[in-house]
Amino acid sequence: MNTESKHKRLSKAASLTIPKDMRLAAGILPGTAVDLTEVNDGILISKHVPICRFCGSPEKVVEYRGEEICAKCAAKICKEATGNA
Ligand SMILES: [Zn+2]
Repeated sequence: MNTESKHKRLSKAASLTIPKDMRLAAGILPGTAVDLTEVNDGILISKHVPICRFCGSPEKVVEYRGEEICAKCAAKICKEATGNA
């Protein structure tokens, strides 16, 4: 993990522009979803990892109508909705 550090000040609306070189290095482009994680001394910004909204699994997750769902939960829902195996 790169340990480059930069000093930035939040805007009046508390927004933050991430320096372009850091964004490019991290592969975070404008419009990219990010995850914010509280850590001991602040907030960690990282690329968004899709997580199933039903079981929390990060495996085989797809987005459907704005919701992230894994293949297993999608199959369960399909089974319950159609009554078929
Ligand atoms: Zn799931």
